[in-house]
Amino acid sequence: MNHRQTVITPPQQRRKKRGVRLAVAYALRGLIALLALTLVVLLVCGILYVKEHLVPPTDNGSTETLDTGKDTTNEEAESTSQPQSPTDEYTAVLDAGHGGIQSGCAFDGVLEKDITLAVTLLAAEKLRAEGVTVILTREDDTDVSLEERCRIANDASADLFVSVHCNSYEDSSVCGFEGYYHNGTKGQRLAEYILAAANALGVKTRHVKDENYQVIRDTTMPAALMEIGFLSNPSERAELQSEEYQNTIAQAIANGVLAMRAAG
Ligand SMILES: [Zn+2]
Repeated sequence: MNHRQTVITPPQQRRKKRGVRLAVAYALRGLIALLALTLVVLLVCGILYVKEHLVPPTDNGSTETLDTGKDTTNEEAESTSQPQSPTDEYTAVLDAGHGGIQSGCAFDGVLEKDITLAVTLLAAEKLRAEGVTVILTREDDTDVSLEERCRIANDASADLFVSVHCNSYEDSSVCGFEGYYHNGTKGQRLAEYILAAANALGVKTRHVKDENYQVIRDTTMPAALMEIGFLSNPSERAELQSEEYQNTIAQAIANGVLAMRAAG
């Protein structure tokens, strides 16, 4: 028995060894298959990740990219808002005195309403060229009530209001450009800026005074009423009819408004 057993044991050990080898081989194959499967799974996950996370930002449609997208658009909005944005918009209401049946003062066939309209239209043109939003209370020979003129300015929430008039006086030697404001340092400053601008352009100027005129009293923004010259003075009347002088007065009004805008 013992002898036979010793004869029989080698093949059994061999079989055992073969079995172990086979088991190891199967285990290795299983391990390799598992690794291959893991690689395939990782590859698929990788492709899906790339598709979801890297492709959308290029076409800017993913919600995940909204934050950074918003930041850049905000920066763009801020940089482009420098020259022109709603907060930077500056609105001036220019009011050509009288109109229609309201001629204003009249001397030698020269009507105040015609001079004020001509100068106001020229000033509007100059201010628009400087980027100011200009609202006119009248653009032609129409009669607009004083209440309506104030309403137009107040409804527009304008930054300032300038009313243009011509003066008259019993003493025909009196002449010059003067301004009025009502109870307000800013209205006074506006009138002063316009007068200073006129003076700088060689126009004869008088003074700035506080007056209770309706259009500068009932408007809610800095307001000035400018008496651009005396129609009762023959030489100033002649000047006020000339396009060159009208242009100079219009430039003075525009420069005064621009000075107000620059002062803030
Ligand atoms: Zn007038």
